[in-house]
Amino acid sequence: MIEKFEIFIEKHHLSCLKKEVSLKFFTTITCGGEADYLAQPDSYDELSKIFKFICENNIPYKILGNGSNILVSDNGFHGIVISLKNLPYSIELHDKKLTVSAHIEGAHLQKKCILEGLSGLEFLNGIPGTVGGIIAMNAGAFGHEVDSVLDSIKAVTHEGKLVSVQAENIHFSYRKIKLPFENYIITEGTFNVHKKSMHDVKALCDNYISQRKSTNLWHTLTFGSTFKNGTDYYAGELIEKCGLKGYSIGDAKISETHANFIINNGNASSKDVYLLIEKMKDEVKKKFGINLELEVKLWGDFSYAGK
Ligand SMILES: Cc1cc2nc3c(=O)[nH]c(=O)nc-3n(C[C@H](O)[C@H](O)[C@H](O)COP(=O)(O)OP(=O)(O)OC[C@H]3O[C@@H](n4cnc5c(N)ncnc54)[C@H](O)[C@@H]3O)c2cc1C
Repeated sequence: MIEKFEIFIEKHHLSCLKKEVSLKFFTTITCGGEADYLAQPDSYDELSKIFKFICENNIPYKILGNGSNILVSDNGFHGIVISLKNLPYSIELHDKKLTVSAHIEGAHLQKKCILEGLSGLEFLNGIPGTVGGIIAMNAGAFGHEVDSVLDSIKAVTHEGKLVSVQAENIHFSYRKIKLPFENYIITEGTFNVHKKSMHDVKALCDNYISQRKSTNLWHTLTFGSTFKNGTDYYAGELIEKCGLKGYSIGDAKISETHANFIINNGNASSKDVYLLIEKMKDEVKKKFGINLELEVKLWGDFSYAGK
């Protein structure tokens, strides 16, 4: 399959592709191996062409945002990783609807909202993802989730077509969305916002940021919550009750502050992180009979890690 892709690249003179790219520094936990290919198209036309080809030929692929919710195997990902980073971007306001390119980072979006006095998205402040990742994960914090503010998205389909999908046609659940079709790349999100004073928007953003800073996980190498919470439990609480706070394998450690967070102390391998994940799962299962569900996405094969 990959050979077919190489022929396709040559034929179309695509310069947006790099071979054997380490994904380590494309993730916030900062570990993991190489992708066979990293595609960073610089036009939407190129993005559509590549995606259509990938889907037609069943080539394994992943869409990369800011890498703040993924763990890549030390053996890498055998397939094509698509990043939107080099595409043109825009943020536009039309009648209380803010339309934002998917590869814009949440932090950039917040700056815009503060400067223009646009309220509604403050709860996203401090989530280190891109708009595409935030939508794809139905990200949330402080009692709000993306579904409460999303108007619509634009996405490239497996046929390489750009389509709009209204929020009411998206099925949202906890850290998950389902579109009416499989295989898509979100290229744009439109959010409902309302006018407030710049001061009020900033004050709310600052409040959320200071709550985040108080958890002491600011600027650490992590992918945020490892597991999803259940309807009647917090994953972090269960892990803490298993006495695992501060437990480490290699250079990967369960945070002393928040037991659902794994921290890379500098030189952790993905195997270290993976074994820690398994340890958390096993201990919680043993003590509470609960199967924790991963929030973080695993890319590549982890069977080499054993248990
Ligand atoms: C310190 C820290 C704090 C965090 N706090 C929170 C929090 O409060 N709430 C919360 O919900 N999350 C939190 N997270 C997790 C993470 O930031 C979010 O899940 C975020 O939405 C991921 O965005 P990303 O751009 O980094 O996506 P990535 O991690 O790159 O990808 C995540 C998933 O989204 C998919 N994806 C990304 N972009 C697109 C696209 N354009 N089209 C289709 N699919 C796409 C990827 O394929 C992957 O499946 C935190 C993470 C960290 C490191």
